[in-house]
Amino acid sequence: MREELLHFIWRYRHFHQQGLVTEDGRPLQIEFPGEPNTDQGPDLRKARIRIGDVRFEGAVELHVRASDWLRHGHAGDPRYQEVILHVVWDNDRDRAAGDIPVLVLATRVSKILLSRYEHWMRQPVFVPCERQLPNVDAGIRGEWIRALVLRRLQRRDALVRERLEQSRQDWAETTWWMLARSMGLPVNAAAFEAVARSLPLRLLRRHRCYPSTVETLLLGQAGLLAEEGAAREYLFWQGKYGLSPVREPVSFLRMRPGHFPAARLSQLAGLLTSGGGWFSLIRDAGAVETVMKALGEIKGLGKDMQRGILINAFVPLLFSYGQGEKALRWLGQLPAERNSLLRGWAGLGVHAGNAADSQGLLELRKEYCDARRCLDCAIGRACLNG
Ligand code: SF4
Repeated sequence: MREELLHFIWRYRHFHQQGLVTEDGRPLQIEFPGEPNTDQGPDLRKARIRIGDVRFEGAVELHVRASDWLRHGHAGDPRYQEVILHVVWDNDRDRAAGDIPVLVLATRVSKILLSRYEHWMRQPVFVPCERQLPNVDAGIRGEWIRALVLRRLQRRDALVRERLEQSRQDWAETTWWMLARSMGLPVNAAAFEAVARSLPLRLLRRHRCYPSTVETLLLGQAGLLAEEGAAREYLFWQGKYGLSPVREPVSFLRMRPGHFPAARLSQLAGLLTSGGGWFSLIRDAGAVETVMKALGEIKGLGKDMQRGILINAFVPLLFSYGQGEKALRWLGQLPAERNSLLRGWAGLGVHAGNAADSQGLLELRKEYCDARRCLDCAIGRACLNG
């Protein structure tokens, strides 16, 4: 038994409720199991129960073993004085919580629920609930995936805000870092961002009309210059601007030549030397097509990369800038990404119709399925409740 499963069982009342008695033999009725407490103190608050003829309202504390009350240091802690019921899986110690009534659940829970949960926790498969997944209501699934897109954008908002703070609220500079980061995904995000951070936008803007110089600076900083002439030019700029090459090594792991770091950095140079600023373009553009068209003009930048920049850099920036509605609309209008995770979902009959769906599914797999957070997942709760 894990404590989070015990919480789930208690909150959703997955136990036989007929003839409940406390450990000291008094009849017990549950009117309301309580609201989860996100602060310090007991697990649930505002629970309502009846013991014999007396009605109680207060907090409930849950433990796998009754003796955990003492082990967790609750005895004498004033925050636990409002506890009216101690719910445990196993009562391994009499009167562990002083005079607080104890309810034991071990013999009252369906074996099917327990074995399904255990099966999920142990299965080394793509998605542990794959056998139950087709039976989950499509509405529940869709709503959950939409909620996850928002959570993903909120997580990325923290990433953008951190960079904004470091750039002193400079949106153009932050966009430059995010752009470089997205071009380095999946394995070179940190290295590409380090290259971008080592070359401030104001310096690169001076060379805007000379794309080959910008490319030399990027490749030189990444330690990827192969040509002797370019290497000599880089040494000149390095001395002039006092540049030190970045320490973060770039990786060539499992890459096709078109995705090699040097090719990507050349495209990044193209992005930097083309047209006006990217941040003002995305901020002022109404339709995602306007940005797609501008990206489509960058030499060598394929459709997948254009979509990747929009999803991983521009949409999070818009969301953080306060244009969340537009960010979500653009995601809904972009085609879904293509990768092995999404092929895995498709194999289970869950297809991503657009980038919002694919982002939601990626979030689900990474933040919930991999971490076996099935009890926090709407699909998991639907399966177990069913
Ligand atoms: S987290 Fe949700 S979708 Fe993933 S395996 Fe668990 S129940 Fe299934």
